[in-house]
Amino acid sequence: MADRKYEFSWDFIGDVKEGRPNLGNTTRIEVYRLFQYTLRDVLEEKFGTEAADRVFFDAGYKAGVNFCKQFIGESSNLNDYIEKVKQALLDLKIGILRVESADIDRLTFVLTVAEDLDCSGLPDMGHAVCTYDEGFITGVFYSYNGAELNVKESDCWCTGDRTCRFHVTPMSHA
Ligand SMILES: [Zn+2]
Repeated sequence: MADRKYEFSWDFIGDVKEGRPNLGNTTRIEVYRLFQYTLRDVLEEKFGTEAADRVFFDAGYKAGVNFCKQFIGESSNLNDYIEKVKQALLDLKIGILRVESADIDRLTFVLTVAEDLDCSGLPDMGHAVCTYDEGFITGVFYSYNGAELNVKESDCWCTGDRTCRFHVTPMSHA
């Protein structure tokens, strides 16, 4: 596509220190969620639920890849890598990541994210909402060694659970 206006780069994050000398680099969760859920509303209205979810997944994926480029960098092994991701997610107040189970040989993991930025505290809706996180986690694993894994959220604050739980499996098992 020739005339892209918004292809992501870190320029869209900008120089926050210079740009917000008084307000600084934080805002409130309400603002983040207002942005996310109005955007989802419009995407769903215009393109349907499935396409809206797909957009969120793909955006999360790009975010995961760019997040790792910016904050994680190279790691010698997966454990070390996941530890760095965990710390960065804490530092940026995105959520509290835990590895519930890991089978590195089979690339099968169960991850939980507590106090998730997207859903913690929302009412029980009978379905998970963290599609962006599914994409984000997919991007995080891809950034480690190019592995395309399948990431699916099973439990979410919006399914009445108190933590989000993500099952990571090789693509062929998807
Ligand atoms: Zn969730």
